[in-house]
Amino acid sequence: MKFPQKAIDRFNAKINKTSNCHEWNASKQKQGYGMFSYDGKSKPAHRFAYLLYKGDIAENMVVHQTCENNGCVNPEHLELQTKSQNKKNYNSTHVSKEMVEKNSVKFLYRLRNVRPELEKEIDALLMLLVSEKTKDEDDFGFEKIKKESYI
Ligand SMILES: [Zn+2]
Repeated sequence: MKFPQKAIDRFNAKINKTSNCHEWNASKQKQGYGMFSYDGKSKPAHRFAYLLYKGDIAENMVVHQTCENNGCVNPEHLELQTKSQNKKNYNSTHVSKEMVEKNSVKFLYRLRNVRPELEKEIDALLMLLVSEKTKDEDDFGFEKIKKESYI
């Protein structure tokens, strides 16, 4: 797909390139995916990056970030997967307390979307995270983190 140079420049201006990921530095949706408006529509930035640098996206395909960083638009980290492949990445995962310790909140959110049957278990973990964070923050006298900001 061909895009006007103006759009490409605008896109590139919103990226913060690190040695690894290209972080989207503009508006993001709830799960942390970058959003880029083009042609009057708001599109996921990583999909736009794929179209721009790699090629077309067939209808039944999703653009997967191999780095698991939702805010990443590095074309090197983008690959096409079928929807069912993408789902499979999550289907083999077990929910554990270690996930919270590793701070993979984003991953838990995605998992929660894909595996509704795990929703309760994941919510319990997220709550755990919230209460642990709240405890830590309290020691320093910071404002409590509201549950709503996680769920
Ligand atoms: Zn990345």
